[in-house]
This record gives sequence, structure tokens and C-alpha cells, in this order.
Amino acid sequence: MPTALYPGTFDPITFGHIDIVARAAKIFTRVIAVVADNPNKQVLFGTDERVEMARESLKGIDGVEVMQYSGLIVDCLQETDATAIIRGLRALSDVEYEFQMAFTNRNMNTAAETVFLMPSAEYTYLSSSMVKQIVALGGDVGSFVPPFVAGRLARRLKPS
Ligand code: ADP
Repeated sequence: MPTALYPGTFDPITFGHIDIVARAAKIFTRVIAVVADNPNKQVLFGTDERVEMARESLKGIDGVEVMQYSGLIVDCLQETDATAIIRGLRALSDVEYEFQMAFTNRNMNTAAETVFLMPSAEYTYLSSSMVKQIVALGGDVGSFVPPFVAGRLARRLKPS
């Protein structure tokens, strides 16, 4: 099976993202997590930090790479010789936006196939923004993100 891209903001990477990458790596020989370098998007962590956290979190999964990209995902597809775009589907609320994006990408590049994967049930309601809110309120996110990601979040957000 060919290469797949898994684009996202990963601000920061969570066990939900990691679960999706692990599933994708069973189907595709090469999976590239593409960290969006988008100056218009409000993020807590800079692109380099998001890439570093993703690399550290995904290093145990064979065939997985991490890169940053600032353009359209359809252009990244061509540059990397990838044929599929992986996206994770959680609740029904993800569907509308994800469909819109998948069809838009296909309009720009007819060869762009989006593959939707579902995470393990325990991560269905997990999102990066939820994790950030919990840390900001002093809560424990040990079951949602790897320890070094939790450490970075705490240093950045924890009330002193
Ligand atoms: P984006 O800004 O592109 O939505 P995210 O980092 O929030 O970036 O998400 C990237 C992809 O990972 C999306 O397809 C999203 O649905 C998926 N995703 C995020 N969290 C989870 C999770 N807990 N389980 C499954 N998929 C997830």
C-alpha cells in the first residue's frame, strides 16, 4: 500500500491522534503526520514544538514520519508522492466539516482520496482543545497525552 498523509494542527498531539496514526500504519507502508504551519491559526505551541512533540510521540510506530507544511494538503500530496489523506472521525459532529474538506481536496486534485478512521472508543471525545482547557483549570491529562506533552502543557498553561 502507498503513502498516506495525516494532516492536522496537533496543538498538541493526543492519544487520539496517536491511535489514528497506529491504525493508518497498519494499512499503509508509509504514514506522514503533516503538522500544519499556518500563521493564521491560533495555536498554543509553535510549529517546531508541535513537530517535536509529534515526533517523540510517534517514534515507536514503524513507517511513520513527521513533517511540517505550510501549503495546501493537495500540493503536499504531490510533493510526497502520497495517494491518501487520513482523517480521524470522532462524533457525528466531525462529519460535516470533514466531508466539506474531503470534497474540496478532491475538487482540487481528483486523485486525492480521503480515508476516515475511527479511534478507540475511549478517545472519541478527546480533542487538543479539551486537553488545553483541562490543564488550564489545573486538571490531570495523563490519560489523554504522553507524559512529556503533559509536562509541556503544564509549563505553558498551569495556574501558578
Ligand atoms: P485540524 O485543525 O486539522 O482539525 P487536529 O489536530 O485537531 O487538526 O485534528 C487532526 C485530525 O485528527 C482530524 O481529522 C481530527 O478529526 C483527528 N482527531 C483529533 N483528535 C482525535 C481523536 N481523539 N480521535 C480521532 N481523531 C482525532
